[in-house]
Amino acid sequence: MLNIRLNKNFNKLKTNYVFAEVAKYKNKGYIDLSIGDWSLPLVPKIKDAIKKALDDDEAHKYPPETGYDFLKEAIQKYYRTEFNVDLDKTEIFINDGANSDLANIFDILGKNNFVTIVPTYPVPYESVLIKNKLNKKSSQYVLYLCSPNNPTGKVLNIENWVNLANKIGALIIFDGAYSAYNTNGTKSIFQIKNSSENCIEINSLSKMAGFTGLRCGWTIIKNESLKKMWTRRVTTCFNGVPYIIQKGAETALSPEVIEENKKNIQSYMKNAAKIKEFLKMKKIKFVGGENSPYIFCDYKFTDFIKKYNILGVPFGSKTRLSSLSLLSPVEA
Ligand code: PLP
Repeated sequence: MLNIRLNKNFNKLKTNYVFAEVAKYKNKGYIDLSIGDWSLPLVPKIKDAIKKALDDDEAHKYPPETGYDFLKEAIQKYYRTEFNVDLDKTEIFINDGANSDLANIFDILGKNNFVTIVPTYPVPYESVLIKNKLNKKSSQYVLYLCSPNNPTGKVLNIENWVNLANKIGALIIFDGAYSAYNTNGTKSIFQIKNSSENCIEINSLSKMAGFTGLRCGWTIIKNESLKKMWTRRVTTCFNGVPYIIQKGAETALSPEVIEENKKNIQSYMKNAAKIKEFLKMKKIKFVGGENSPYIFCDYKFTDFIKKYNILGVPFGSKTRLSSLSLLSPVEA
């Protein structure tokens, strides 16, 4: 018999996480446009780098908790070239994909009010509930901004949000998971003036380079107090990302592989035209398909299944809305 106290905050969540709902319908012959999983093969240079890294002695050692310098240097170069942003190595924390840090970052925060623009990626808010970090009466705010947003594809005017955060002393957690799909807006929050103190950026190679299964990304914290706390948190609770994966990530950030993956992203975005044409034909209202690999539809998840054999992702409490991923195999 188990006689311990459990975390009652789990009672605040819906029974299943959204993708657990979707999983019930997987592999049943539907056209699967649900979870945004990278479906094209990895760029061969990434695979070669990982295979080669396996022979290095470092491959079987504990990695540094915050990441290897070689990858931090590749990220520095990437931010400088693509975003005109300078980063110090101490500001870069290598993560195992954005998801964990979007949840765990709340370990270093107290109880604040929480603001986001819905619908959006649910992990930060659910983590706030699990960790009991919500004080709806507080006038101290943590904002989670995902731009381009999953599922709507909306690109936010980040400058306005940074100005607001500076004015009221709020913290912005900026999710840049889809920045490589952004054709006309801020790609890194640190491109905005005066963003160092009040902003954290969490990013990932999942949707930019096919690391959905390999698991690697980065978190950037410039604020000295937050950086100190996050370093303490990471060095205690995380043993780092495997060396071989970080070697693959370093290669993913080399200029030629970035270019190859830009082409892959363009090929995913070509799926948008086909899906949009279908939705127009069926008179289904939608947005997106331009700056993120999703099309957000005013249509029930269950109706997509019943009427069109299409599996999407449900959004909204009554599942009135759903999103379709463009990352599925091109022939779908
Ligand atoms: N942020 C957003 C907006 C996402 O859509 C996802 C995954 O779909 C993630 C973060 C997490 O990505 P990963 O953990 O694979 O880096």
